Amino acid sequence: MIDSHCHLADKQFSKDLPAVLRRAQEAGVGRCIVIADDLDESEKCLFLAEKYEQLFCTIGVHPHAAKRWKVEDLERLRTLLASSGKVRAIGEIGLDYFYDHSPRDVQRDVFRVQLQLAKELSLPAVVHCRDAMDDLKTIIREVDPSSLVLHCCAEKWEDVLPLVERGYFLSFTGIATYTNAHGIRRTMRLCPLEQLMIETDAPYLAPVPHRGKRNEPANTVEVAKLLADLKKKPLAEIDAITTANTVAFFRLPA
Ligand SMILES: [Zn+2]
Ligand SMILES: [Zn+2]
Repeated sequence: MIDSHCHLADKQFSKDLPAVLRRAQEAGVGRCIVIADDLDESEKCLFLAEKYEQLFCTIGVHPHAAKRWKVEDLERLRTLLASSGKVRAIGEIGLDYFYDHSPRDVQRDVFRVQLQLAKELSLPAVVHCRDAMDDLKTIIREVDPSSLVLHCCAEKWEDVLPLVERGYFLSFTGIATYTNAHGIRRTMRLCPLEQLMIETDAPYLAPVPHRGKRNEPANTVEVAKLLADLKKKPLAEIDAITTANTVAFFRLPA
């Protein structure tokens, strides 16, 4: 099993990362994709991916950090992307109109420029979206990247169907386990298994029964169990399919 999206460079893991990784291994979560939120954090993600064989990483600027984007950051992004074979994607990038930590026009510009770079370099894009689906889909349609995952999918099925029809992936977190998350579970049930990944988004969004605590990659198993339930398939089959999807999407060694 692979945690396709976690923030292990977050300071919440600075004291006990080796123990966190050990618990992940024990739970059967053999590999993790460490996701970056800005360029400084990208360097930390890269450091971790170089240090631990089972970690791979992304490089990118989250919509929350878009307001700090400078023109020269595009070059820095290119340099970081080329600096190691452990860098597997651009992310996380996207739009967040719920928190609005950056002005919306700036978010759109910074998302577009990074998505264009992903297309130019034939790299997958890890995309974040909150309350901004229409603008997100417009930009994706314009840029037409070859490979993309909408992470922490919390959308209505009808709203993400156009992305699935374009061959893109949806990835689900522990929020799908929350009592009231009926809409998310419906999307998860309807999404074709071949276009689905699972993740924790740790340290955030711990699934039931760990809700409220710091989340960690070992809890990917809870998302897999829910998916097995919804798809009425054995956990081992869900594990095999989502792992194969993640390996293919991020072009990990088999
Ligand atoms: Zn996100
Ligand atoms: Zn994230």
